[in-house]
Amino acid sequence: MDIHEYQAKERFRAAGIPVPPGEIATTADEAEAIASKYGGMVVVKAQVHSGGRGKAGGVKLAKTAAEAREHAFNILGMEINGLTVQKVLVTPAEDIATEAYVGVLVDRKNQAATFMVSAAGGVDIEEVSHSNPDAIRKLTVDPRYGLLPHQAFWLANFLYDDPGLIKQASKVIAQLYDSFVESGASMAEINPLITTPSGEVKAIDAKMSIDDSELFRRPEVASMRDSSSEPPSETKARDAGLSYVKLDGNVGCCVNGAGLAMATMDLVKYYGGAPANFLDIGGSSNPDKVVAALEIITSDPNVKSILFNIFGGITRCDDVANGIVEATRRIDIKPPIVIRLTGTNEDLALEILKEAGFSAYTSMDAVVEKAVQLAKA
Ligand code: GDP
Ligand code: MN
Repeated sequence: MDIHEYQAKERFRAAGIPVPPGEIATTADEAEAIASKYGGMVVVKAQVHSGGRGKAGGVKLAKTAAEAREHAFNILGMEINGLTVQKVLVTPAEDIATEAYVGVLVDRKNQAATFMVSAAGGVDIEEVSHSNPDAIRKLTVDPRYGLLPHQAFWLANFLYDDPGLIKQASKVIAQLYDSFVESGASMAEINPLITTPSGEVKAIDAKMSIDDSELFRRPEVASMRDSSSEPPSETKARDAGLSYVKLDGNVGCCVNGAGLAMATMDLVKYYGGAPANFLDIGGSSNPDKVVAALEIITSDPNVKSILFNIFGGITRCDDVANGIVEATRRIDIKPPIVIRLTGTNEDLALEILKEAGFSAYTSMDAVVEKAVQLAKA
């Protein structure tokens, strides 16, 4: 789960990181009121789950409250990487001497949290990692000990020469690690971590992604979810109790069980196709779940065929067949549907489906090949 900059800043502040104050506005009037309360220069910042807001025109400096109003008016409703801006953060502007990058993320290869820091921070850190990897210092944290003080110092030492700045940055890096762990995050990032002309280190941007599996034991973090900023299909899937991940292909997949769903996607690839999604409907034959699954799959305009792959163990295939028939009566579906059912009561299930006019199979190879063909046709 991604959270907004202003929410990540709240968490960073709670961990002791120096973060300038700020307030959220949903209208230009509110932005103006906040700006005049702060007085002086402010920054108006789009709150969307996307990087590169600065480049897209979603971060604007304003000298006066009237100017802040104008920027808020332009930024609210703007589209940044396909996401509509519904809120802006209004924050007093800082004088910037230098911009550094500090980030920590779960690195799957090392199976541990890994820090990356660079003195070349600001808006183009992805570019730096490609063109000048030596400008980035990395450190993998041993989860048994956490981030040790000398490691935080070693990272900070890469950013600055001045001992005062190194000391402040070491503290920020340690606090960032604490916030990352306490939040159940998979990624936490400050870009830029600035120094001011008077020699202070501050975080003026904040980004954090939370591991979905950490949410159930952190209700205060889970409550930061902003469904209006997420793809509607993922919100719908979550509400219906389905595990769904959207992908780029055109074969919509509806499978019971995560392992079978993965195997199905592999087989789609094997037969030269590409899955449009991962979807595990679980052990349920409940027509409501099948309806929700079909609505989610068909809301993706790339989907050209729909593939059901059901293995009936405790789940009875005839129940699932009835669920599919019922679901397709309730909603109008354009792409062709092919179904593979095997296991408990499969004979009965195949009869039900054939009677309702579906192509039903018991072989996984045959149905996947068919679904790939139909998607290409
Ligand atoms: P991003 O583009 O989505 O990463 O948004 P940032 O919050 O990182 O802002 C992008 C850039 O805007 C920063 O790298 C700064 O150069 C500039 N910026 C943001 N806030 C301030 C501020 O308070 N003062 C000044 N002078 N520049 C700022
Ligand atoms: Mn940034």
